[in-house]
Amino acid sequence: MKYLILLGFLASVSFILNCQDNQTRPNVSDQFVVMIDPAHGGPDPGFISSNWIFEKDIVLQITKKLASQLEKGGFKVLLTRSADHFLSIQERIQLVKKIRPAVFISLHTNATKDSSKQGLYTYYQADNPQSILLDSLFHTVNRELAFMSDNGSQPASFYILTQSPAPSLMIDVGYLSNPAESTRLTDSCFQEQIARVIHEALVRYHSQVATAQK
Ligand SMILES: [Zn+2]
Repeated sequence: MKYLILLGFLASVSFILNCQDNQTRPNVSDQFVVMIDPAHGGPDPGFISSNWIFEKDIVLQITKKLASQLEKGGFKVLLTRSADHFLSIQERIQLVKKIRPAVFISLHTNATKDSSKQGLYTYYQADNPQSILLDSLFHTVNRELAFMSDNGSQPASFYILTQSPAPSLMIDVGYLSNPAESTRLTDSCFQEQIARVIHEALVRYHSQVATAQK
C-alpha cells in the first residue's frame, strides 16, 4: 500500500515537472521572429466570465509562458503588449508591419451562450499557405497530446488576419463562458500546457519552412 502511495506521489511530481517545457532546441534561425499578440488589455477586458475572470489577463499570462518556452527553445520572441495596457488592432498591425515577424499569433478566449461548450478554436488566413500549414500543425499537436477538446478551425477575414503581412493564426484558447474551463484557464500548469501545444506547433512549422527553403 505504501508502495502504491509512493508511486502515486511520484506520478504527481512527474506531472508537475512535465507541465514545464524544459526542452532546448538551439538551432532556430535569428531571422525567425515569433510575434505574440495577447488581445485586449487596459480598459478593454475582453470577455468577463461569471466568476470574474478577464480574457485580457488569461491571454497575457499564456503569452508570457509561451514567450518563455520559445526563448528557451532558441526562438526570438516579440510581444505586442507585455503588460495590462490597451493597443488598438491598427496599432497591433502597425507593429507587425514594422517588425515583419516570421509568424504572428494572436491569442483570445472564446465565449458562447452554451455554457457546456469547451476547447480550442483557431482562425487562419485563407490565402496564405503558411498560415494554413501552421494551423494544421497546431491541431495535429493538440490532438497528439490529447490535451484540450479541439473544435477545429476556419479561414477568417478579421482585420488582424487580413492586414497582417506575416503568416498568422488567431487562437481561441478555451471558453471563458464555461465555468469549469474558465477556472482551468487560470491554472498556471494548464496555461503552460496550452503554451506547449503552440510551442511544439511552431517547432514543427519552423523545421518544415526551414527545410523547404534549403
Ligand atoms: Zn477576444
